[in-house]
Amino acid sequence: MSASLEPWAWALLALIALLVGSFLNVVIHRLPRGESIAFPGSHCPQCGHALRPWDNIPVLSWLLLLGRCRYCQSGISWRYPLVEILAALLALLAAWVIGWHGQLLPALVLLWALLALTLIDLETYLLPDWITKPGMLLGLLLNASAWLSPHFALASPLDAGLGLLLGYGVLRGFAELYLRLSGREGMGHGDFKLLGMIGAWLGWQDMFLALFLAALSGGLVAVGFLAAGKGRDYAIPFGPYLALGAAVMLLWPQVVMEQFLHLAAPG
Ligand SMILES: [Zn+2]
Repeated sequence: MSASLEPWAWALLALIALLVGSFLNVVIHRLPRGESIAFPGSHCPQCGHALRPWDNIPVLSWLLLLGRCRYCQSGISWRYPLVEILAALLALLAAWVIGWHGQLLPALVLLWALLALTLIDLETYLLPDWITKPGMLLGLLLNASAWLSPHFALASPLDAGLGLLLGYGVLRGFAELYLRLSGREGMGHGDFKLLGMIGAWLGWQDMFLALFLAALSGGLVAVGFLAAGKGRDYAIPFGPYLALGAAVMLLWPQVVMEQFLHLAAPG
């Protein structure tokens, strides 16, 4: 891409990403409640009043309305603009790290899906099949495209297939072992499917490193909660850590691989 086009490309990407973030808000809010994503149109969850297009501009409308519904004055969660801003920041970060390359497209789709899954899991402790199952299929199709064109795939088709099987299977095996040993459910089935999806997108090698990062970051946070005296009953969903691990592996696979090898075999 020529240098003179670049500012426009960045601005356009940010704009598209804000609109995607606005759509993700709808997905995050409606999907777990079993509501349709398309109908009815955007409305205030409190008073049900339909929103006009100018009430629905990402971030800007929320700021102009000072976080309140125009019709009933009830507060609108700051989560809405936050999701829009995060969707845009992730997109800009991905474009910066990956560059204006065919792989940017699947990277954006994966990052936005992970963002939606993270927020749904934090709110409901569920990772909907509605996202993870089509996500697995899409990951396999994406990487199967390597047979036709090298520009979009993130992993080889074989690594992606193994990633799906191992991601789902290994985590499920761990969970059953944990259940036998402790008599408690450690993870939900949504976690296995999410890791299977991550494997289908990134391949089995990066899937395992994403799991490693998730266990590491999840463990650190759990220790933090225990140290703060809030341990035991404080249930933290694992999905957000898996999503974080996958995002890091998507953006910085080489860096993590090098650090991991260094950790495994110092010197
Ligand atoms: Zn309202």
